[in-house]
Amino acid sequence: MKTYLAVDIGGTKLAAALISQGLIIEREQISTPSSQSPEALSDALAALLVPLAQKADVVAVASTGIINNGILHALNPANLGGLNAFPLQAVIAEMTGLETVVINDAQAAAWAEFQALEEQSSTSMAFITVSTGVGAGLVNQGNLLVGARGIAGHAGHMLADPTGPQCGCGRIGCVESIASGTAIGREGEAFFGKETTGYDVYQQFLAGNQDAERIVRRSAKAIANLIADLTISLDLDVVTLGGSVGLAEGYLNMVSEYLEAQPAVYRPKVIPAQTGADAGLIGVASWAANQATKSKS
Ligand SMILES: [Zn+2]
Repeated sequence: MKTYLAVDIGGTKLAAALISQGLIIEREQISTPSSQSPEALSDALAALLVPLAQKADVVAVASTGIINNGILHALNPANLGGLNAFPLQAVIAEMTGLETVVINDAQAAAWAEFQALEEQSSTSMAFITVSTGVGAGLVNQGNLLVGARGIAGHAGHMLADPTGPQCGCGRIGCVESIASGTAIGREGEAFFGKETTGYDVYQQFLAGNQDAERIVRRSAKAIANLIADLTISLDLDVVTLGGSVGLAEGYLNMVSEYLEAQPAVYRPKVIPAQTGADAGLIGVASWAANQATKSKS
């Protein structure tokens, strides 16, 4: 069995783990350099990965952003600063001397969620994470959808409201611009003051505040519509909902309530995400192993 060096590159942390037969045997984590310069990221990755690479056969990377043929891009270039167009795959392959594969982090998490499903009869699944942004990953008839340019699954940028706010990607009214924790916080500023966060609004909602409830319900309704749209286009069996908002008290129930108002064909089973903070690491290692098996057969 091969040992995978799984890497999760996020906006705040860089995590790495040695994974063998689906189990984490060693794990390290450092902060993502705040400078967003290619040199700083390369140095940080080298410090994290080079010691672990000696014990691994393959490097499997899950990263924020769009991974187009191993190169990091962003729908919202402001998110990545100087890291837009960073050649992630080539840099890591060079520093470790190992075969390296890279996919998007929500895609990797979706694969981990798919593997964790109890009902093995499920073949098509969406993982949706509602957090600072809205991310998603899609599994269609047992295959993770990555896309020729790495874009597949960026469903947080499907349309929720053509009269809504402008999203970070440039489009008007994306699901993310209405449903994300960031969007919830921004909407809340009018009622609860400047620098209100999504968490603040959610706490107000739980305390019974009606303005907060309207904002949170708007988010849940956008996610329910997204689930219905994905279900009718991809014939989904199940949706797993994650993220700090997605897993917040009462949120999934609200989403389910809005879905109940739709005809039956739009309603998959909706369950809470199960794989937690290491979903990206576990998912990308499992995906890399699966790809290797497929290319052999
Ligand atoms: Zn967008």
